[in-house]
Amino acid sequence: MTRILVAEDEPGIALGLEDDLKMEGYEVEVVGDGIAASRRAGEANFDLILLDVMLPGKDGFEVCREVRRRGVRTPILMLTARTMEAEKVMGLELGADDYVTKPFGTRELRARIKALLRRSRGVESPATYHFGDVEVDFERGELRRNGQPVELTPIEFKMLGYFIRSRGRVLSRDQLLAGAWSNETFASERVVDNHIANLRKKIEPDPANPKYLVNLRGLGYRFDG
Ligand code: CA
Repeated sequence: MTRILVAEDEPGIALGLEDDLKMEGYEVEVVGDGIAASRRAGEANFDLILLDVMLPGKDGFEVCREVRRRGVRTPILMLTARTMEAEKVMGLELGADDYVTKPFGTRELRARIKALLRRSRGVESPATYHFGDVEVDFERGELRRNGQPVELTPIEFKMLGYFIRSRGRVLSRDQLLAGAWSNETFASERVVDNHIANLRKKIEPDPANPKYLVNLRGLGYRFDG
């Protein structure tokens, strides 16, 4: 059963979403404020979160940031009434996977939900992942190079896992912070760069000319392994 958490405070929209998604065969839980949304996203194992931006208690951006900081990777589809491009980008930077602008048609929403579920299932962590002479063993939490174990710090391992799951996609430093630091530990963007530099030494054939962890000036990093 695919479980969807719906965070929407307008009763009419919430009810409409609940009915429609149930008819599509999903199991649905509805919450009406940001505090409950953040809590439930951490407590229960949902397959997808539909998150309204304008919520009482905490807005959708705040919820999104909190959820990702806690390391919850459930796909998030934001429902936004705002048309400002900057606000949409902000949601995506905070770790949302996609957004739909209100008012939306049920057909469009269903299609987006299906696409997101497909995407998240497709990138579920495999037990091991290979690139070049590197083998990442997610089950044992080990990295081997030419068969020889290489020591990674927990943060480096998490970061590499996040890169592998998001391969081919550019990740901003903020996204990397949210994705690899599951607690509220203070970490700055400079710290991200330091970890990347260390990771490169461990996985790149030539760390000075990286081919796997590519920097995109002003945007962030992309994993091309
Ligand atoms: Ca709302």
